Amino acid sequence: MTEIPRLIPGSGLTNFPPPDRWDDWQEYDARAWPEKVPHSYRLVPTTCFNCESACGLLAYVDKESGDVRKFEGNPAHPGSRGRNCAKGPATLNQMYDPERILYPMRRVGERGSGEWERISWDDALTEIGTRIGTAIREGRHDEIMYHVGRPGEDGFMDRTLRAWGVDGHNSHTNICSSGARTGYAMWMGWDRPSADFANADFILLLSSHLETGHYFNPHAQRIMEGKQAGAKLATIDPRLSNTAAMSDYWLSTWPGTEPALFLAIARLLLDWDAVDHAFVKRWVNWRETMASRFPELPQTYEEFVAVLGRVHERYTTDWAAEECGIEAVQIEAVAREIARAGSRFASHTWRSTGSGNLGGWQAARTLWLLHVLTGSIGTVGGTAPSAWDKFKPEHWNMPPPHSRWNELLWPAEYPLAHHEMSFLLPYFTKEGRGRVDVYFTRVYNPVWTNPDGFSWMEMLTDPARIGMHVALTPTWSESAWFADYVLPMGVGSERHDTHSYETHMGQWLGFRQPVLRVAGERDGKTFARTHEANPGEVWEETEFWIDLSWKIDPDGSLGIRRWFESPSDPSRPVTVDEYYGWMFENSVPGLPERAASEGLDPLGFMRKYGAVEIARDIYQVHEREAPDGLRMEDGSVRHGFQSPSKKLEWWSETMHDWGWEAEAIPTYLESHVHWRKLDLAGNERILLPIFRLPTLIHTRSGNAKYLYEISHGHPLWMNPTDAEALGLITGDLVRLSTDSGHFVIRVWRTEGIRPGVVAASHHMGRWRLRDGIGNERWSSALVDIEKTGDSTWRLRQKKGIEPFASDDPDSERIWWRDAGVHQNLAFPPHPDPVSGMHAWHQRVRITKAEPDDRYGDVVVDTSRSFEVYRQWLELTKPGPGPGGLRRPMWLDRPIKPTEDAYRV
Ligand code: SF4
Repeated sequence: MTEIPRLIPGSGLTNFPPPDRWDDWQEYDARAWPEKVPHSYRLVPTTCFNCESACGLLAYVDKESGDVRKFEGNPAHPGSRGRNCAKGPATLNQMYDPERILYPMRRVGERGSGEWERISWDDALTEIGTRIGTAIREGRHDEIMYHVGRPGEDGFMDRTLRAWGVDGHNSHTNICSSGARTGYAMWMGWDRPSADFANADFILLLSSHLETGHYFNPHAQRIMEGKQAGAKLATIDPRLSNTAAMSDYWLSTWPGTEPALFLAIARLLLDWDAVDHAFVKRWVNWRETMASRFPELPQTYEEFVAVLGRVHERYTTDWAAEECGIEAVQIEAVAREIARAGSRFASHTWRSTGSGNLGGWQAARTLWLLHVLTGSIGTVGGTAPSAWDKFKPEHWNMPPPHSRWNELLWPAEYPLAHHEMSFLLPYFTKEGRGRVDVYFTRVYNPVWTNPDGFSWMEMLTDPARIGMHVALTPTWSESAWFADYVLPMGVGSERHDTHSYETHMGQWLGFRQPVLRVAGERDGKTFARTHEANPGEVWEETEFWIDLSWKIDPDGSLGIRRWFESPSDPSRPVTVDEYYGWMFENSVPGLPERAASEGLDPLGFMRKYGAVEIARDIYQVHEREAPDGLRMEDGSVRHGFQSPSKKLEWWSETMHDWGWEAEAIPTYLESHVHWRKLDLAGNERILLPIFRLPTLIHTRSGNAKYLYEISHGHPLWMNPTDAEALGLITGDLVRLSTDSGHFVIRVWRTEGIRPGVVAASHHMGRWRLRDGIGNERWSSALVDIEKTGDSTWRLRQKKGIEPFASDDPDSERIWWRDAGVHQNLAFPPHPDPVSGMHAWHQRVRITKAEPDDRYGDVVVDTSRSFEVYRQWLELTKPGPGPGGLRRPMWLDRPIKPTEDAYRV
């Protein structure tokens, strides 16, 4: 268990309320100051849902009013250790937003017309469940699709879809992280890194990870610990982000050229012989590489090292300096830091260049090469595979895998994609590859988040392509507007889920819980369902999917209901206490004993603390003895890695077998926005549209007033060199034209971005079609959407953000006006032919706004988007691959079906 800091020495103060007083905690009311008015609280732990980090929160439930008064950090959470970013406490705004959706709603008029009626949960469940049950009875399993943005849970939905026998899991991964995942997976099977920042001597970050990254707050606090202990920090980013500003080295590379930088550093490490040969010889697949790729050469390790040298000969420092647009001395300085750090070299990349560029997956692949050479994998201060630090508990009564393969999600053209080709759904359905009869969007807003949102609107409003759209969402969104049912689901304090993430070199399990229900139960109240305790009838998915599964198969004849029956009384649905009680009792090592030591059962322990630590100081897992592991030359059998060879694969046989021989080793692929391809002397520039603002969430912070008060600016970053060349000053309106349309935005001249590159953050550009409904007025503009031709659309803002009257007096105090520009609408799809990642960066032509242009205008021709989709499709090498497989069996995918489903 994480130690909870108690007394601050000499102060008489505590860092955190001691857990033994969480059921009766008193604080003075800050608003009554200077009067001392005490308030009594129950403190209930839960888990933040506002990004993927899953930090612990502590809800202060006022004993008098029964309301939550604030959220602070949960000191018992091993990942976040009592700390949060601004988005955690803003859960309070989300709970009590006067505009939130409180009741289930059903569409009344045409889809997208904005007419709704309130219905009961039972009616919603019956109507949706009956439709799914009919599709399954008629063998139309592939017409059921669950499309998730932020999952916020780990395994429950996999279990549900398995029970339904449906290959319908669709995720947001290919607009988020497929690039980095592919690069890591081709080395070791596991698809993400886990860095030991706190113990590192040198930390290398791609992008603004310290302030906004993946596992942001837990990582940020450990990066700062590393820095306090003397670690140096380098950041690679065309933008001078806050992270870059905190760094010892800022490398402002041309977007997409980062692999060139890493390959040049690798060459320097080889030249200097700053290589951990014992590690490389033991763990790299050099024997397989030599035998398959260089059979004519001596089959020795020394020859393999010579091959590495020859491969890297062309990656000189001067070549990389020119390619990346940075100084050769910077490259050498960073290389020396990596060589000096050796096994204490930590790095991280997740989105950034891997998500921005054609071939971006090679960024992670070439970055990992530096860890391989320095042996800094699984070491103290190094970087490990994420799977070592993520704990996955078993779920109760797990159904067997199904044997279906949905080609709308896993098409033949993308056999190596990581994962579902989610953002291509509008083009696939337009081509007639299939339809979806029941389409769930869950905490997902594809119309706004995905590229080419107008194509999503065209699909969602066409009943022939989408039979029924059910939006499970905590907030209004641009996509929910185009639903048949809008079903309100809880924010982080209103639901049950379990989590575990690779925040550091240890394992933990977090438990999210509905705090008003838990507080009520401690007061002796009883609730059959969580929506009885939450505001309005806001529910949670765990109970929703259980009850929906009963409606799909009311008499049990489909064999679905049995997976959701109570173990003690099969005539009723399983309860959340039964479900998670089984998990905590049976599949979390050490938890029963830890709970017993406090006189609690495992569920009681998790309800009390909200998290449990399972292991710490996890290093060198690949060296652990494992009976089904890799037999080493010394005769021992070791855990190894998860690649086909169980080694680190410098040369990937899989890539070779599936037609990508040139790309099978860490190499450099030119981006679709490579600077040499642009008319930089004219008006073409590279647009970076994917950097995050640290205080906003993709689309769920729209109802967090504190967050929008902090962040509500959305200018186009432009270097003064470019501004001079284009005749622009700060505040000028410009048109940015892409390959499918254009948008209009304001310029901000800043030295904080390299010349030739412009940037606009995402999160902003939210809109609604009607006042008072359809999106939050804290954050969205009122717009008109006009279809101006067969395939041409225009979005125009009628007004920006304004004060409004509501139950919350703060809504009349709104002083910010800018809702931003919905730039993603004007981005055509760019599916990378290997990873499947949408390459977000855009080649744009920048011109002054025309007389009729207005701030926020977006104009798009979806037939052009479709043409661009077809052009990128041409780059693919479709399966099946060896053995008639649709996809390599070893490559990860959500909800793996049985082996026979892999064969065409
Ligand atoms: S980093 Fe911030 S938003 Fe993310 S889980 Fe932690 S507190 Fe919540």
